[in-house]
Amino acid sequence: MQTLSINNKQKLQLSPLNIPERLLLGPGPSNAHPTVLQAMNTRPVGHLDPAFLATMDEIQSLLRYVWQTENQMTIAVSGTGTAAMEATIANAVEPGDVVLVGVAGYFGNRLVDMAGRYGAEVKTINKPWGQVFTIEEIRQAVKTHRPAILALVHAETSTGARQPLAGVGKLCREFGCLLLVDTVTSLGGLPIFLDEWGVDLAYSCSQKGLSCSPGASPFTMSQRAMKKLQQRKTKVANWYLDINLLGKYWGKERVYHHTAPINLYYGLREALRLLAEEGIENSWQRHQQNVDYLWERLEELGLTMHVERHFRLPTLTTVRIPEGVDGKAIARKLLDEYGIEIGGGLGELAGKVWRIGLMGFNSRRESVDRLVDALKKVLP
Ligand SMILES: *Cc1c(COP(=O)(O)O)cnc(C)c1O
Repeated sequence: MQTLSINNKQKLQLSPLNIPERLLLGPGPSNAHPTVLQAMNTRPVGHLDPAFLATMDEIQSLLRYVWQTENQMTIAVSGTGTAAMEATIANAVEPGDVVLVGVAGYFGNRLVDMAGRYGAEVKTINKPWGQVFTIEEIRQAVKTHRPAILALVHAETSTGARQPLAGVGKLCREFGCLLLVDTVTSLGGLPIFLDEWGVDLAYSCSQKGLSCSPGASPFTMSQRAMKKLQQRKTKVANWYLDINLLGKYWGKERVYHHTAPINLYYGLREALRLLAEEGIENSWQRHQQNVDYLWERLEELGLTMHVERHFRLPTLTTVRIPEGVDGKAIARKLLDEYGIEIGGGLGELAGKVWRIGLMGFNSRRESVDRLVDALKKVLP
């Protein structure tokens, strides 16, 4: 134990860092794979070291694989999913652009806020939290608003609903707009075919379906989106996230832009390698099988899922808190007594649901068993 004087009023008692072990079954982060943590323990090299540049190239190829895309501009953004989200908006949106956002949860609202800050004229279509848009509803809205960009959340983590995307890309081409999709809670955990679906801009994070720690976030854009970027009349209003500049570090030129968080990139590279080793389709299947098992076990306890089965995410389940039960107190008990983290509701669903994540490394039968056994003991 060490005593540190911060100033003459405050003293700090410090022992070496000691964080309890947790099973992270909330909306994220989820536990990193042990092999990934080991990789992150590797000594850092310089951010322009040939060995590191080769690692970056591997990250790019592996990201194309897990996203099922051939997009040249596929990189990791140094920051969490929100930074990749901001990179997407900052580069895609020019002041005055009409951006149409599908809002059926917290992250749809965040896209609205962000696009507005970059000068977009934002329009929305809305659904109650837990529902999704039909292709006809999307078509009507695109027809009415004629946006430059249509933005949808594939996996709305605040509600547990999966927005179907088949046919949307085709619609966007018909109306000459770009399709932007948040895949933060879907990448690695459920089928995504970016090119086949005609998605032009997408981003994700490292700490949910990819089994890594937070801080290095996937980002990709299509040739169509690149063209819009190249034709901009105004500079991208965010220096750190400007793809013109970042592209020179990730591309052939290898120009210094910022110091990459070296160890996080090691982790992301290893996480993606593990996914490739498993096979992306196998990972999707594993997520679905384990969540089917979760739903079955929760129903046995008499609990009800919030989202209609057909539109539920395999990565995140919203469970209705039974009448008269203190949801927060139950979650706290799970954490304190069983070392298991689950999430509470956000926004419209605050106090109404728990959010249970089975993402990446945590999507295992034994995670479900541990949670359900603990729930049996803590539920009244
Ligand atoms: C988690 C999440 C984000 C934000 O990612 P961070 O890594 O928390 O910054 C964005 N969109 C969705 C749908 C998310 O679930």
